[in-house]
Amino acid sequence: MPELPEVETVANSVDARVRGQRIGAVWLSRYKEPFKTARTEMLDALSGLRIERVRREGKHVVFDLSGGGCSHQIRAQWVVHLGMTGQLLVVAPDLQRPKHTHAALELSGGRELRFVDARRFGRLAFSSVVAGGEGFRGPGQEPLTISEDDFVALFRGRKLSIKAALLNQSLLHGVGNIYADESLFRAGIRPTRAAGRLSRARLLRLREALLQVLREAIARGGSSVSDYVDADGEKGFFQFEHRVYMRTGEPCLNCGKPIHRIVLAGRGTHYCLHCQR
Ligand SMILES: [Zn+2]
Repeated sequence: MPELPEVETVANSVDARVRGQRIGAVWLSRYKEPFKTARTEMLDALSGLRIERVRREGKHVVFDLSGGGCSHQIRAQWVVHLGMTGQLLVVAPDLQRPKHTHAALELSGGRELRFVDARRFGRLAFSSVVAGGEGFRGPGQEPLTISEDDFVALFRGRKLSIKAALLNQSLLHGVGNIYADESLFRAGIRPTRAAGRLSRARLLRLREALLQVLREAIARGGSSVSDYVDADGEKGFFQFEHRVYMRTGEPCLNCGKPIHRIVLAGRGTHYCLHCQR
């Protein structure tokens, strides 16, 4: 499942390739699952609009769309959730469409924007934006911009483990299993600790560690652990920087003791018994 750095990488790589282009003919697959907006409505609505910007909002890729005329005012949004295996690719239109293509948008620049998703957990939605309105907002707070006080307040009084709290998308969005494990290791916090019982100082260390790990991962194009690729089909490189995630039994990079694995909040959780307290 792509997390914040992977979604950010996809949004930025798509933006660099499609910004300012007008959407021509639109093709959508016959499957029901990918379409949160009725496919007939989406077919009609997308064609003719201009892509002003592509950006990440939480774990969604948001296409801000204008009417395509002289005004660059945002009138609508196409919101893409990559799900488990969703890919947004910008390719030559004559390149054969892979079997699991669910959307293909002809672009004025001559290329084609495709949404390909083998597992079909990804979602596509279209919505109008009223003038002056905010448009799409995902649940939870943004980890890259949250203030120290707001970060500490998120966990106050919470009995669940800090790992489970980090995975809770209604608190912070975009942090999944990889970056939860990696940030807890860097902060020296054991994943099983009750979130509400961590001191302000330790939570602030966690915030710093999370910012650091997310920024480093974005700089490396994300972690390619399953089907994740950017708009050119390129993999990320942050998986080579993982210090605990999927390193069960391998030596801790700090102390040399083997990395421990438990299941917490239903997810494989990797940590060092010695370095994380
Ligand atoms: Zn260690």
